[in-house]
Amino acid sequence: MATLDRTRLTALLEAEQAAYTDSHPRSRALFAQADNLFGRVPMTWMNMWSGGFPLYLDRAAGNRVTDVDGHTYVDFALGDTGAMAGHSPAPTVAAVQRRMGELGGVTTMLPTAEAQDVGAELSRRFGMPSWSFTLSATDANRWAIRLARLATGRPKVLVFAYCYHGSVDEAFALPGPEGKAQSRPGNVAPPVPLDLTTRAATWNDLESVERELAHGDVAAILTEPALTNIGIVLPEPGFMEGLRELATRYGSLLMIDETHTFSTGWGGATRAWGLQPDIFVIGKSIGGGIPCGAYGISAEVAAAVTRHTEAGDADIVDVGGVGGTLAGNALSVAAMRATLGEVLTEDAFAHMTELATAFTAGVQQTLDELDVPWSISQLGARAEYRFARPAPRTGEESAAAADDGLDAYLHLAMCNRGILMTPFHNMALMCPDTSREDVDRHTEAFREVVGALFG
Ligand code: PMP
Repeated sequence: MATLDRTRLTALLEAEQAAYTDSHPRSRALFAQADNLFGRVPMTWMNMWSGGFPLYLDRAAGNRVTDVDGHTYVDFALGDTGAMAGHSPAPTVAAVQRRMGELGGVTTMLPTAEAQDVGAELSRRFGMPSWSFTLSATDANRWAIRLARLATGRPKVLVFAYCYHGSVDEAFALPGPEGKAQSRPGNVAPPVPLDLTTRAATWNDLESVERELAHGDVAAILTEPALTNIGIVLPEPGFMEGLRELATRYGSLLMIDETHTFSTGWGGATRAWGLQPDIFVIGKSIGGGIPCGAYGISAEVAAAVTRHTEAGDADIVDVGGVGGTLAGNALSVAAMRATLGEVLTEDAFAHMTELATAFTAGVQQTLDELDVPWSISQLGARAEYRFARPAPRTGEESAAAADDGLDAYLHLAMCNRGILMTPFHNMALMCPDTSREDVDRHTEAFREVVGALFG
């Protein structure tokens, strides 16, 4: 097996860094001038891009992004899934322009007729009968967690080590000593110790799940069908079925967050793998870039919530902690309707999945040829390489395989070759506009860049 030479990595990274700095003077200058932005960026996580300063966006269309220095990139980051429909897909643009311009009324607190169409489409794909809309997946998770606690009368949420579900307080937990959840490193000022709100288990380890559920205080298991925010960690055969079975046995709800795993197919992993969630959460991509999210609840959860609202001990229409003023606004509803109805279609998913399969094969070929100790995992339209072989089985194993130096080198080297990868990890996502030529371009660049390291 090839071994990583850190001295060579450092030299290669320095060369890529110098090339990046030289070729992006305008981005560099804008970053230097941004004195009134905390961290010099509109949101602090934009500093996650490698290279010391982020690229500044000029324009984007389909799967191409152009920066202010005039470079155009093949975009495999796609806004970390927010742009899985491609940048500014024509049907979404038309629907948004119509609502914003001709019709007007982005935020009126009034429903539009289109909302039911979106609800029906979400039901058709993901199976849940009743939907509410939000402006982000984070909000969908937060509000749905409240409903889960209300419906079950239980206080805690069970999550998996190294999961990510947005800035949801309950979810920043790792299994700690004496079976108590503890805060994940870097968690910004948690409101209460994590073991008061959360139970933490290990992915692909049903025993760890059962141990936590047996306390009888878990309202919901909150999980993705595959971990996607610590690399892709796929479920082993029987794991998702086991979660369903354990949730039912211990009286907890199963809450599936498909914000990223929607890449699995037209109906997400839920449809592809026959999952049976009690609560379903989605966000990011379904509005074609316009902020939106949604959660669907089962008839049983809806009935339990309604019992409480009718009894007057929970308020879901005013200031009870579920909902937001702009949620369900006419603009995001129009965007969801167009994006789901005309862009992220079954045909689009077939195309995207075929390309992700080719992407995966291209990466695997280089890894095999150079005997590199990395792996690549695919989930429908997305694929991601990880610095471990075989592919990690748990969040803990995947976290141990993280390597900031390698991440920085690969991101910068790809960027310098006209390819954008997701800055938070090495994820590549296909959109309806991605072509086979784009994938081949990555395959070639990957061979060159990894060859320079291991060849
Ligand atoms: N759920 C999952 C699985 C996610 O990966 C993310 C963000 N990466 C979120 C929820 C939160 O999405 P947002 O930041 O758009 O609220």
